[in-house]
Amino acid sequence: MTAPGTVDAEAYADAVRAGDRAAVARALTLVESNLPADRARARRLLRLLSPYAGTAHRIGISGVPGAGKSTLIDVLGRRLTALGHRVAVLAVDPSSPRTGGSILGDRTRMAGLAADPAAFIRPSPSAGTLGGVARDTHDVIVVVEAAGYDVVLVETVGVGQSETAVADLTDTFLLVTVGGTGDHLQAIKRGVLERADVVAVNKADGAQLAGARVAARELAAALRLVHGGSGVTAPSVLTCSAADGSGIAELWEQLRAHRDGQAASGVLADRRRHRRVARLRATVRAALLDVLTADPEVADVVARVEAAVSAGTVDVAHGCEQIVAACGRRTGG
Ligand code: GDP
Repeated sequence: MTAPGTVDAEAYADAVRAGDRAAVARALTLVESNLPADRARARRLLRLLSPYAGTAHRIGISGVPGAGKSTLIDVLGRRLTALGHRVAVLAVDPSSPRTGGSILGDRTRMAGLAADPAAFIRPSPSAGTLGGVARDTHDVIVVVEAAGYDVVLVETVGVGQSETAVADLTDTFLLVTVGGTGDHLQAIKRGVLERADVVAVNKADGAQLAGARVAARELAAALRLVHGGSGVTAPSVLTCSAADGSGIAELWEQLRAHRDGQAASGVLADRRRHRRVARLRATVRAALLDVLTADPEVADVVARVEAAVSAGTVDVAHGCEQIVAACGRRTGG
């Protein structure tokens, strides 16, 4: 899949806004590209699309592999399209840069949603560094929102940093867990539970129903402790089954209620303001990194300083100063 090339950015943005799936897919490839020429085109496209983004309900979905996220997204997504929503599903997978593979759930478990014309599933997770993933994911969200998707589900796995990045990028953070395995208690240890706005104990069916209910009670009690006295309402905990569909309607009610509550209290606007500033900072960092890697003179300084630091002849602080000074010379600072 190639970048828009000679197609002018306005026509391209129009095609994305019209919901042209091929244009959306190509736009996503473009915004995830690290080629300097693509970065410039991506920035132009994003500037044109940004005014039309920002209104979707962005939901982060996290949980350990096997908790049932893919299956749940399929069922929830189809329910939402039946209600008239347009749903985009994105993935943040911190494993992909290292392994080239995906530790996220099997995409074939979203076969129903994939065939739904009102849904768009990003076929492959983002690659790159975690900073890159956060930047790409934001840009990907802008593209799908401008294309008219009004619910954006961003899936990630139970790896701390990617969860924080996704929680920062979304309005509502859903933790999917299961009963009877101790997973819910591990989540508490990692601090993920503190970020959750809604907790769903999945696989509340058959032989696992009783265990799921116990886990939900324990989690609710733990959350009351975590949030006790903070003035913040503890997240709601519910049980559901992606397999038989029970609890899915209630799950959507909770997700929507969370966002409505945030909108009414002003927290949503605060969260978005905070997000814009965080994004500015991340963009500046990325731009500086581009200078580091794209400018031959700076790259030369970086290579020399790295060799010296590696040999122990220059200490890290001094090496950093030299690199920052080289960047300053190239950016006119
Ligand atoms: P993910 O790794 O979190 O995306 O999990 P998947 O959606 O790939 O599901 C992992 C396994 O759990 C699959 O075998 C699913 O069929 C199964 N599964 C998912 N949801 C449920 C559920 O609600 N009940 C039961 N019994 N199994 C489920």
